[in-house]
Amino acid sequence: SGPAEVVGERATNHGAVAVMADISGLKAIQKRNAEFVSSVSHEMKTPLASIKAYVELLADGDAEDEDTKDEFFRIINGQADRLQRLIENLLNLARIEAGVVQVNKVPLSVNPLLQEAYDVLVPAAEQKNMKLVNELSPLYLGVLADRDTLLQAAINLLSNALKYTPVGGTVFLRSRLNEDEIIIEVQDTGVGLSPEDCQKVFEKFYRVKKDKDMAPGTGLGLPLVKHIVEDIHGGKIEVESEVCKGSTFRFILPSV
Ligand code: ADP
Repeated sequence: SGPAEVVGERATNHGAVAVMADISGLKAIQKRNAEFVSSVSHEMKTPLASIKAYVELLADGDAEDEDTKDEFFRIINGQADRLQRLIENLLNLARIEAGVVQVNKVPLSVNPLLQEAYDVLVPAAEQKNMKLVNELSPLYLGVLADRDTLLQAAINLLSNALKYTPVGGTVFLRSRLNEDEIIIEVQDTGVGLSPEDCQKVFEKFYRVKKDKDMAPGTGLGLPLVKHIVEDIHGGKIEVESEVCKGSTFRFILPSV
């Protein structure tokens, strides 16, 4: 075989490989990341600007009496708390999303864990003159769970129920067995959510406009709960709500 033939052979073997990928998914992720960074920056800018402004007022001697000074310090402290909360929540969420949180799933009884979350919130309920009603199932409810994150999820839901319910309201904590599923429910007699808001509350940074003045928050609590329930525990989270009547946040875990 001469050189010409070799060239010919090569020529016939020349194929084309086209690598095609659908990048619409990637584009959507990039867009979401950009939006995320933009909301984080926005959320951080506001308290920082306020801290700076009040520090300047103090430095310029604009606070004439002790009461005014105290007021300025109180505002600075409150805004620093807000930043701290935001950063802690962001870190929690990022750690869980990145999978670097030590997740240690063991078979455990869910009622004592819920009781612990209940006990944590008793003082907050008393302070707001609210009833916290314990309706935990008398049955042994076994789940395969990571103690720390599941406790965090229960505390977040209870704390939201207390935050978004006016003084004097009631919050119920329930657990029950439904065939091979364990249902955990936090119901409140609070401000409730519209159907559109029910869809959006699990998105990062989403806060219902009309409720923003009711309680401080970051809009990261429910996304964290969703991650814990769905990604770590293979469960499902849902919300049922009616404006001005109240909300029920429910998560469902496979029973073991
Ligand atoms: P945060 O409470 O820090 O704002 P979350 O992610 O926990 O963030 O909640 C997002 C939003 O969902 C809240 O700002 C509030 O508007 C709404 N929400 C959460 N829980 C309840 C509830 N139990 N009743 C009414 N609205 C709620």
